[in-house]
Amino acid sequence: MSRRFDAIIIGAGQAGPPLAGRLTSAGMSVALIERHLFGGTCVNTGCMPTKTLVASAYAAHLTRRSADYGVTLSGPLRIDMARVKARADAVSANARVGVERWLRDMKGCVVINGHASFSAPDAVQVADETLSAPRIFINVGGRAIVPDLPGIAQVRFLTNGTVLALDRVPEHLVVVGGSYAGLEFAQIYRRFGAAVTVVEMAARLIAREDEGVSQAIREILEGEGITIRTGAECITLAPHANGVAVGVDCATGDPEILGSDVLLAVGRRPNTDDLGLDKAGVVTNARGYIQVDDGLATSVPGIWALGDCNGRGAFTHTAYNDFEIVAANLLDGEQRKVSERIPGYALYIDPPLGRVGMTEAQAHASGRPLLSGHRPMSRVGRAIEKGETQGFMKIIVDAETRKILGAAILGTGGDEAIHGILDTMNAGVPYTALQRAVPIHPTVCELIPTMLGEMRPVR
Ligand SMILES: Cc1cc2nc3c(=O)[nH]c(=O)nc-3n(C[C@H](O)[C@H](O)[C@H](O)COP(=O)(O)OP(=O)(O)OC[C@H]3O[C@@H](n4cnc5c(N)ncnc54)[C@H](O)[C@@H]3O)c2cc1C
Repeated sequence: MSRRFDAIIIGAGQAGPPLAGRLTSAGMSVALIERHLFGGTCVNTGCMPTKTLVASAYAAHLTRRSADYGVTLSGPLRIDMARVKARADAVSANARVGVERWLRDMKGCVVINGHASFSAPDAVQVADETLSAPRIFINVGGRAIVPDLPGIAQVRFLTNGTVLALDRVPEHLVVVGGSYAGLEFAQIYRRFGAAVTVVEMAARLIAREDEGVSQAIREILEGEGITIRTGAECITLAPHANGVAVGVDCATGDPEILGSDVLLAVGRRPNTDDLGLDKAGVVTNARGYIQVDDGLATSVPGIWALGDCNGRGAFTHTAYNDFEIVAANLLDGEQRKVSERIPGYALYIDPPLGRVGMTEAQAHASGRPLLSGHRPMSRVGRAIEKGETQGFMKIIVDAETRKILGAAILGTGGDEAIHGILDTMNAGVPYTALQRAVPIHPTVCELIPTMLGEMRPVR
């Protein structure tokens, strides 16, 4: 059987569904193919369930600290993991059902459940059906990397997907990978009462960030009783009576960690290996990411790649922005470019890290003359009032153009407060525009102009 459409979308992640909405509104017939769960990673195994767990973990943390606020509770804290899990499941399920219903009710959109793979540059195969279209949009996302560690085949391990199925608190969770996802899970389960060890191969946590950020995050996590093992070379896994023995060859510390559970959080890989890209001639890089130009077109005319699978972003908001770029260029006669996007993201440990633009190290490497500002959260009124003074905010500015190059806000509300800086950068105005704004008191944002007024040249 074969059917022809105006457009085919592979994957119902963060870019595919809204693109289906725009294309059908423009009068096109669209086939949208999803092989697993509608909403993709973010809705089912990424942002939504994890941030729901972060909220439960925060509630536990605040409960433990309640006496600091003059609130007393009688009886010990108890974590009801079944309810914690049910809450996260419900948040995901609501979103998943909503996306699927929206697509199925969409006039002009045919939703097909199944695995799609290319059979030609303008055709994909789903089971025994061939679908063809002059425009094909790939939104297949990615999955957790399972590293080829010695012993991996002999042990049970968790990934970001399977850890969400736990309705118990692990006795001792060993998290392999000290980057964004790994650190979020580490703090979540520590706050639920697990012993937690983070094993990271690099010399420091989230090595892409500036050293000061890595160090402050390490101190925050260690302050909650999480054991951090950096510089862990030669990681091995072996079955053990109590779970898993994780062998680490660190410069210091025990060479073996005995965990009840091990979570692998060492990065993601694109879902492009089973897509038949060779049959279409679509070029990928050595890591399997689909190569795209500034408008997200692939090497084959009529095929675009959006979201995590193109390697140009690794977030829900970047996948959605890919949709906006493609839709604007195809349907609105615009010429938007992915290179115009100013990178922003957050790490949702508590307190969160909000980030935008360059790190200080990147700004330094660019050779520009720089100004930088720094303010500890212990000198932010709102943080003091909330009793959450860990972290700091910092900003890097081009001393000549006075444009903001990058910033980090590690502290209470940092994920929200960073947007004042992100918006200023997007507006393309000098930092003085933000410095002269009158922010609301008491907020974390109100100290950003103060920080900008106290900047110093970077040597
Ligand atoms: C633990 C974790 C936490 C995260 N937290 C955040 C966060 O807080 N904020 C944030 O911005 N990002 C976060 N992310 C990243 C975010 O989830 C992804 O960047 C985002 O989901 C990418 O969207 P996408 O549309 O590219 O792909 P996906 O959401 O992965 O969707 C791809 C879809 O394509 C389908 N598919 C794949 N291959 C085929 C095929 N051949 N045929 C048919 N269908 C196919 C898949 O089943 C899937 O539904 C997190 C990720 C993880 C793992």
